[in-house]
Amino acid sequence: MDELDKLVYQSRLVGAEPSLVLWGGGNTSLKTTEKNFMGDECRVLRVKGSGTDMKSIQRDGFPGVALEYVLPLLDRRDMSDQEMVDYLNHCLAEPNSPRPSIETLLHAFIPYASVVHSHADAILSLTNTQRARVLLSQAFGKAAVAVSYRRPGFLLSKEIALSLQNNPDAKCVVLINHGLVTWGPTPKAAYDSHIKIVSQAEEFLATHSSNAKDRKIFVPGPSKGLSYSERSVVAASISATIRGLISNRQRAILRFEDGDDVMEFVNASDLMDLTSSGAATPDHLLNTKHLPLVVELDNPDDTNLTFENLTHGISRYAERYEQWFSRYTDGQHPMADPYPRVILIPQVGMWTAGKDGQSAKVTADIYRHTIKILAGSHAIDHYKSLSAKEAFRAEYWPLELYKRSIAPPEKELSRRIVMVTGAASGIGKATAIRLAQEGAHVVITDVRVAELKALAQHMSAQYGIERILYLKMDVSKERDIQAAFKATLLAFGGLDILISNAGIAHTSPIDKLTLSAWQESLSINATGHFLVAREAIDLLKQQGLGGSMVFIATKNVTAPGQDFGAYSAAKAAEAQLARVIAIENGKYGIRSNMVNPDGVFRDSKLWSQHIREERAQAHGIQVDQVEEFYRDRNLLKTSVTAEDVAETVLFLAGDRSLKTTGSMIPVDGGVREAFPR
Ligand code: ZN
Repeated sequence: MDELDKLVYQSRLVGAEPSLVLWGGGNTSLKTTEKNFMGDECRVLRVKGSGTDMKSIQRDGFPGVALEYVLPLLDRRDMSDQEMVDYLNHCLAEPNSPRPSIETLLHAFIPYASVVHSHADAILSLTNTQRARVLLSQAFGKAAVAVSYRRPGFLLSKEIALSLQNNPDAKCVVLINHGLVTWGPTPKAAYDSHIKIVSQAEEFLATHSSNAKDRKIFVPGPSKGLSYSERSVVAASISATIRGLISNRQRAILRFEDGDDVMEFVNASDLMDLTSSGAATPDHLLNTKHLPLVVELDNPDDTNLTFENLTHGISRYAERYEQWFSRYTDGQHPMADPYPRVILIPQVGMWTAGKDGQSAKVTADIYRHTIKILAGSHAIDHYKSLSAKEAFRAEYWPLELYKRSIAPPEKELSRRIVMVTGAASGIGKATAIRLAQEGAHVVITDVRVAELKALAQHMSAQYGIERILYLKMDVSKERDIQAAFKATLLAFGGLDILISNAGIAHTSPIDKLTLSAWQESLSINATGHFLVAREAIDLLKQQGLGGSMVFIATKNVTAPGQDFGAYSAAKAAEAQLARVIAIENGKYGIRSNMVNPDGVFRDSKLWSQHIREERAQAHGIQVDQVEEFYRDRNLLKTSVTAEDVAETVLFLAGDRSLKTTGSMIPVDGGVREAFPR
């Protein structure tokens, strides 16, 4: 391995340990000698690129910065963030490399070859206390230099460099309310030193904890608490309300967690006090916001009271956020979404919110470490974090705002949650994929679990983590449906779009039709749509954000075919259901529309060999002529595919059809007798 490989290896070791850094946090570097583009040897700082995640970083994740241009900056008095960024752009070894970390100067000014900077939990437990400096000197003696909190940037980097000049024997710099910096002549030495200091901090916390071994760190409140299953019922029953209330400005995806660490924390008798001081380090705050919201439910069984509690808590949080914003803003940047990212409900659990499932997960991971850090601080002292003013400067740091401003624009269905029934194949599958392509979070359901699981894996690999949920659901079974909606609420917090697609085909002339075949068709092709829609309407009304329901009907609704009695009658019921839903729920902003496909053969379970044979017989043709027959009977003489249907579903699902409800759109190549009228 060359030197850069060793830096990659060191960084991945740091990145793989969540008690050191989380999701893109922390950074590492190495000063080395390289040939520049002129072929001259020069000193280069290889430093982690801005926003890169260390657990998966590669060689090209470390842009190079020419040290001969950077080191003279130490003589300057001050430098704004923007000046610093512009200056560093001129110093890049490769003009098109990623932007170097915003903590680049910190690395450059430390006169050792390799530098490691983390936001280690144990270090934050020590620095986020009222007696931080006393505790740090007890823990590390003269080995650590403590630097007071200052937002990362030129001045912090310079302050660290100067404090090292004054303390040449120091082994590390501890940044109050921020993290740890260690160094060494090689990446290995810098890493070893980092681990040694963090281990020392962990031991110090363990031996100096004021809590007796048998006592819990967070003292539980008087309530006896809910059982695991009671909790999940309450959580599912209020998720959509929470999502509706915090999505006032823009929709959020929610995530629910109620692990032991979370429950011990939310049930602490002094939860309000514990959560009043805020995020552990500026890096965390960007995801969690400075403060979480705590809402106490007076009686989880009382729906109206719970709604009042949640409304009051969330609107109060937003008001306070606005006050905080107007107190510190310089008018340069608009106010961000004022709603909480972390919601703690005693006895029930924790919700985190984000623009997508992944960011809700990142926030949850970070907050669970916040709980750990708080526990450490709480055991030796009183937790103390950034001031309200510094928290503002961290959240509205122009460099972070810039990072967000260059993020790619959101897709049409981003922040939307969709459920597709009958998604294992055919139209359901094509629709699920098409909506995911447009950014939707998709819940795919079917009775065929193996196919569903394979599809979910494929889609997750394609569209990213925390985006796809697969659930076994028989649309004719109320219990299956209730369980699927509950799982959806716990995974994503709500629903925006329902694609009611699951169906079966059956052929027989009426006089030969058995009662059981008739009932089976009705139970899936009519009752199935009713049961799923009923559950969805209930959720959408509770959530209060409107919604869109798309029913996959059939050309047979307007032009039934012979021997398709059970199927056509049931699908006609589905069509009337879709219209009545449109009539009843327009006032809630819930739209209901239908798509009428015809002759979609490829990947379709509807068109089994048996059905093909039956249809061939009904039309007096050979079995292998069925597809051709359907193609030739439409006006455009074209084969209709599941992907064609998915395009129309996409139109009806999203906001492009915002003014359309109760409609029926054929996707059949044009069948004259099936024109809707
Ligand atoms: Zn940092």
